[in-house]
Amino acid sequence: MSDSAPSFNLAETVVKWVDVGIFVLNKNFEVQLWNNFMAHHSGRLTEDVVGKNLFEAFPDLPKPWFTKKVNTVFLLNNFAFISWENRPYLFRFAHNRPITGGADHMYQNCMLLPLKAEQGKPEAVCVMVFDATDTAIAQNLLKQALETISEISNRDGLTGIYNRRYLENRLSSEFDRTRRYGGTFSMILFDLDFFKKVNDTYGHLAGDKVLVEIAARVRDKLRSSDVIGRYGGEEFVLILPETPLDGARQFAERLREAVALEPVIFDDTPIRVTISMGVTEHHAGMPGYATLTHQSDIALYASKAAGRNCVTCYAPELEKLAAAK
Ligand code: GH3
Ligand code: MG
Ligand code: MG
Repeated sequence: MSDSAPSFNLAETVVKWVDVGIFVLNKNFEVQLWNNFMAHHSGRLTEDVVGKNLFEAFPDLPKPWFTKKVNTVFLLNNFAFISWENRPYLFRFAHNRPITGGADHMYQNCMLLPLKAEQGKPEAVCVMVFDATDTAIAQNLLKQALETISEISNRDGLTGIYNRRYLENRLSSEFDRTRRYGGTFSMILFDLDFFKKVNDTYGHLAGDKVLVEIAARVRDKLRSSDVIGRYGGEEFVLILPETPLDGARQFAERLREAVALEPVIFDDTPIRVTISMGVTEHHAGMPGYATLTHQSDIALYASKAAGRNCVTCYAPELEKLAAAK
């Protein structure tokens, strides 16, 4: 030891006390070193673990996977990393955060380093275990918050069904999917009849209740792949994947009946409402999804003109009728 070398062993003290798990394995996976962090979190004292085979001491470890990982470090003589995002933990340790964090174990990043005598091949592998729980909790909360925001931004505040923004996106993606992979889909646009009168007669709150109830009634009749949204005030859109025009027309007819049959009850007062509907189907030559919204609008207008409370399928000759309005 030179005169200037310190008499204390810094490296040994740091390894022992640092707030990072550190352990060392030889080629037989026998533990050579087990620091205080590992002892504290595993509940296994250093003298209990050192000299033992790691997998015998910890039978719950993912043996084949971790063996491969360590052997790669021996073989390539290079560092390796394990991120909590790929594998949440190596050792199932508890963490000391409040339960509300949403994690029931310590998330861990691991780093594996080859240990070798100078110039030689690795004789052992040092594994460092970093507690990544705070990062993981923050990231999971952020992910949940973004999902919630995205969900809210796609929903109509009054009825809880999808809003126009979502419908436009969905129509566009359904249109692209059908153009690319074939198949078909239909779109239904419907509008409450004389809804202004409902508001004028029973009040705006009653009108709101009617919108909520009609949305729920229609939603309950859909298949899981169908989409319902509120397109505007008292106008709704249905997207029916893999449904040709005739199926969509029959379905629209059933919905129309279901709405007309049962009045909406508001404050013990029955309010009778009906809907007018326009139906159209995707066709190969359509330039874009806006053609579908246009055609369903034309068909809806024809239903209104025919006296309301009815279903009309789009046909080119209806364009003249709408143009004359
Ligand atoms: P038509 O049969 O031709 O569709 O007649 P209508 O009275 O239903 O149509 P109009 O466009 O004249 O009136 C629509 C009404 O819908 C007027 C508007 O105040 C009402 N409305 C739109 N959004 C809401 C809402 O969120 N809540 C309530 N209560 N009413 C709404
Ligand atoms: Mg209306
Ligand atoms: Mg309207």
